[in-house]
This record gives sequence, C-alpha cells and structure tokens, in this order.
Amino acid sequence: MGLALPTERHYPMHTYRIDPGKKVNLDDFDPAETRYAPGGKENAEQSLLQLNRQLEALQESLYAEHKHRVLVVLQGMDTSGKDGVIRRVFEGVNPQGVRVASFKVPTPVELDHDYLWRVHQQTPARGEIVIFNRSHYEDVLVVRVHSLVPEAVWKKRYEQINAFERLLTDEGTTILKFFLHIDPQEQKERLLERLEKPEKNWKFNAGDLKERALWKEYMKAYEDVLEKTSTPWAPWYVVPANKKWYRDLVISTLLVETLQNLEIRLPAPFSAQEIAEFRRQLSQEDRSG
Ligand code: ADP
Repeated sequence: MGLALPTERHYPMHTYRIDPGKKVNLDDFDPAETRYAPGGKENAEQSLLQLNRQLEALQESLYAEHKHRVLVVLQGMDTSGKDGVIRRVFEGVNPQGVRVASFKVPTPVELDHDYLWRVHQQTPARGEIVIFNRSHYEDVLVVRVHSLVPEAVWKKRYEQINAFERLLTDEGTTILKFFLHIDPQEQKERLLERLEKPEKNWKFNAGDLKERALWKEYMKAYEDVLEKTSTPWAPWYVVPANKKWYRDLVISTLLVETLQNLEIRLPAPFSAQEIAEFRRQLSQEDRSG
C-alpha cells in the first residue's frame, strides 16, 4: 500500500502528547533531544522525504473526499520555526487544499469583537487543511504576559477555548496543536544568524528582543496552556525544536498518522457502463467536430 507508514514503529511521536490535566514543567522537556532518530539527521532525511510524499497523497485524498477538515495549530517563541515547518513539512503539497492563517496583532475591527471572532472565520472547510501560524492561544499568551486584558478575563479563556475546539471537532474537524519548544540559547543563535546574513535581516524584529526578555513569563503562560487546553479532542504536542530536522520529523509523522487514521476514502470510481457512456460521448464529439 502506497500510504502505509513503515517508519511508524520506529517513531513513537505520540509520546510527545500532553495528557489532559497533566501538570507541565517545561524544564522537564529537553528541546535539543532527538531520541527517536538515533541515526541522526542523515538517516532522517530519507524518512522525511517519504513522509512528505505520504502527506502529499493523503492531502489529495482528503481534498477529493471532501468530508474531513483538518486544523494544525503552530505556537512557539519567535524563531522557534513556525515558518520553517510550513515551508518544509508541507513542501510539495498541493496549495489548492492547504491554507495558512497567520494571526498578528489584532486590528481595531478585530478588537471590537470577541477574540474568537477572527479565528472562527479561518477554520478549515471540508477537504481543507488549515495551518494556524499563531492562533487564539495568543489571547492567553502575549495578552497575559503583557496584561492586555485583566486577569479575570484571560483566566476564563482556557475553558472557552476548550469549548470552541470541542464545537469544531464535534462538527468534523480534526485538531492537532504543536508547541515548538526551543531554549533561549538556541533563540540567541538564530537571532544572531539573522543579523549576520544580510538576506536574513528582514526577519529580525527589534520587538523580538523585548519578548525574549520575558522568556520566563512566556514559559509559565505556555505551561498553563499545555496543562489546561490539551484535551482528548484537541491534544497538544511539545515538539523538541532545537534541531530543525527533528522538529519536522516529529510533526510530519504525527500528521501522516493522524490523516491515516481518518480512513479517507476516495469517491467511488465510475462503473464500466459509465465509462463506456462517457467514451461514447467523447467519440461522438470527435465525429461532429
Ligand atoms: P511572526 O512573529 O508570527 O512571524 P509578527 O512579527 O508580525 O509575525 O508577529 C506577530 C505578533 O502579533 C506577535 O508578536 C504576536 O504576539 C502578536 N499577536 C498575535 N495575536 C495577538 C493578540 N491576540 N493580541 C496581541 N498580540 C497578538
């Protein structure tokens, strides 16, 4: 079978899933580990290629079946690799059925609505995969760290988010949430690289330094997110993301496995009779043309 996943056995990436309600201390998670790929980057390249092909085929079936909706949420500190995942993991996948929604500082119109208003508009339609580059989780992360709303307001949001995601899954959306976990040293190196390479300067944002200074506060906010909003219907995965290739391997594996579990079926093929009839019509067209 073209879509079988021989690598599955070797890559138990589901172990990065956070159990609902589990107390999370991010210090217990090593962002640099590569435990399920002992062969290192070179060995993983082949698997990554294979997973990418599988994702391509699965996405085409998903689009053709026009039944399931898939939502991938990417969160992480600046430079954690959200853009890299979108570029690498989804490389070669038909852009017709994949959409990226990036959530920036809300516009005045967005701020005039509830925080989920702009988010719900971007959720996937049938047959579609949507990647959230940042998401509604910013409303309990940056909003909390910078006290943009009172604590009494953001504290209620975990439950609201769980209910919102429950609604989406009840209605046929599959949700996967990835926290790209890097450490401050890795971020420093990536920021320095952006400064050193002129062609990467555009990616450097002075504001990133201010957020970097709030690292501890952000980790506390992420720990609460992981603890309170990893649910059976919309699980969080803590992805070791210091090594870009390993980050991609974890996410690709989980995506492919999840899509395989949907048991996507292509629409029934035409019967021999239907094909004969269509052929007849086409040949008639030749004669009359
Ligand atoms: P990115 O860092 O994602 O590549 P930007 O540099 O434009 O893109 O950053 C987007 C910024 O928007 C981030 O600093 C993020 O925290 C902020 N942001 C996103 N959602 C919200 C929100 N709901 N409230 C306030 N700020 C937000």
